[in-house]
Amino acid sequence: MPPEQVFDWLDAEANRRADAGLTRRLRPRPASSTELDFAGNDYLGLARDKRVAGAAAAAALRWGAGSTGSRLVTGSTELHAELEHELARFCGFQAALVFSSGFTANLGAVTALSGAESAIVTDKYIHASLIEGCRLSRAGIAAVAHNDVAAIKHALATRRTARALVVTDSVFSVDGDLAPLNDLSTVCREHGAALLVDDAHGFGVLGEGGRGAVHAAGLAGEPDVVMTLTLSKSLGTQGGAVLGPRRVIKHLVDTARSFIFDTGLAPSSAAAALAALGALKSEPDLPARVLSNAARLSEQLSDAGFRVTQPEAAVISVQAPSPEDAVAWAAGCAEQGVRVGCFRPPSVPDGISRLRLTVRADLSESDVDTAVKVISSSAPPRAATS
Ligand code: PMP
Repeated sequence: MPPEQVFDWLDAEANRRADAGLTRRLRPRPASSTELDFAGNDYLGLARDKRVAGAAAAAALRWGAGSTGSRLVTGSTELHAELEHELARFCGFQAALVFSSGFTANLGAVTALSGAESAIVTDKYIHASLIEGCRLSRAGIAAVAHNDVAAIKHALATRRTARALVVTDSVFSVDGDLAPLNDLSTVCREHGAALLVDDAHGFGVLGEGGRGAVHAAGLAGEPDVVMTLTLSKSLGTQGGAVLGPRRVIKHLVDTARSFIFDTGLAPSSAAAALAALGALKSEPDLPARVLSNAARLSEQLSDAGFRVTQPEAAVISVQAPSPEDAVAWAAGCAEQGVRVGCFRPPSVPDGISRLRLTVRADLSESDVDTAVKVISSSAPPRAATS
């Protein structure tokens, strides 16, 4: 085969995706824009906060633009240690370990806490990073129906290994609905399993002062519970963390490959996360503002007849009739100055295309009302039920 034909199969696949309306497109945003953002994950509006961005800039000047190596070689600074201490203390865990992203934190936690001699039981809607962790773990995996505690209990009861790990999101990332964390914890305890909760969308928004869904469920600091989070949503920067009992964190330092073989988080991101955590502590009403904007958005869209999910945290979704409709709907919103997320297969496990909408603490009520008007006027036929 001539070398220029080696990748010809990519074109056939691209054509198949185009026919199914599943082509993806990057839309680089300019530094300053008048667009109303209902798509990003900067829930507390801290990514551009002067205290946070300023701390990042100052840390880059002091420590350098990169961490210079893996965490176990040169990539751990005093900022990393302080951030781990502060995250653990704030969320109520014995210890924390910072990773370069939420994705690598999940990969590291799931793989290090399972293995060929364990069983993993998951909700089938968990985030892609947890799914990849499960796949890499070599554990026997049971992925059960969404939020089906009885199915999780059955899978735990019928497993063939002594060790087991139940893996769930706290707030599911597409529809924004909540996992029944207390029921899951009860079932785990009945069956001697550990519980790993990805609180990416709960941390900063739910629980006392934004301590997250795990804290709100009274599970923070429990000996059999591990929490993961990302620094890229409520804390407005980049990075991830695993929080848990001290011996779990020690085990991750020794064995988590996405920790050991990855360059440490940039010092600027660690400093930004510390500043954002400081902002959250000093403005404890930030989470409530997110929740009231989410409630306003969901209620108005529901009144307009759209199929919209209940607002439990910062994320809601609105069903679109087809992937093509979802793309055209999101593009129509963008043309009118409102950016919304568009989720289509394979990013949605149930195959239903949706607009994914997120709110921030710093949006005004009139921003929300504008978004509702734009989303309604750009809607494709059949999107609204009334
Ligand atoms: N978990 C969940 C539930 C997420 O939504 C995301 C980000 N989309 C991640 C993990 C990954 O975090 P990060 O973007 O920091 O890699």
